[in-house]
Amino acid sequence: MDFTRRIANFLFGMECLGCGSSSERLDPWLCPACRDSLVNGGKEPKFPGGDVLSLYPMVPLTRRLVHALKYGSIPGVASYMVRQSSLSRGGDAVEFLSQFARPFFFVPVPLHGARYRERGYNQAEKIAAAFAGATGGRVCRWLWRKNFHVSQTKLSKSQRAWNVAGAFGAKLPAELPPRGTVFIVDDVFTTGATTSACASALGHDFPLPVKVCTLIYDEPATAAMDFVADCRMEWDGNYGD
Ligand SMILES: [Zn+2]
Repeated sequence: MDFTRRIANFLFGMECLGCGSSSERLDPWLCPACRDSLVNGGKEPKFPGGDVLSLYPMVPLTRRLVHALKYGSIPGVASYMVRQSSLSRGGDAVEFLSQFARPFFFVPVPLHGARYRERGYNQAEKIAAAFAGATGGRVCRWLWRKNFHVSQTKLSKSQRAWNVAGAFGAKLPAELPPRGTVFIVDDVFTTGATTSACASALGHDFPLPVKVCTLIYDEPATAAMDFVADCRMEWDGNYGD
């Protein structure tokens, strides 16, 4: 049993990260039913805006997994979600990426230093590593975060844009690769404010095309609307019974 699994078992008592049920058949994060549900959701990745790939829609299950990745000290969830997605299993995500020039450079959205120390890792780096592993690309830490900013979660779209504009700086290698595609990597794509700010930080004369990859896509909405969406999911589930 690997170290992260033991930590998770300690923290979560062998419970499925999706439904919370105790199961002997966790793989290691989800019970078979939740994993099937994740794989099914991953068959329909989202492409908000055409230049963005989000491996999953935001539903209660994917939200819980990303929460465990960010706040539950379970970095292994990043590669787990990529492995269960249409990127690793063949599907729309593979087709989407096939239109872009290789090699692929995955640039994680940087975490502020204080949050990095508190969390011990940057979840976007874990996701970038998983994307790189699945596509034969590489992780490039070409961005840094300038200032401490308020958590995005509770802000409106305009507040978010203001909150992150100018928040990032670039630390590019002396010689950039002559060809390929850069993907800014984050956990969630909502309004695109964060990834746009990252792309801007690379500079207007940045020579490579810049796209975006995230684990999940959340409709631009306030936290309250997210809550309503969660309730609707449960009602929809009941209609099927
Ligand atoms: Zn479950």
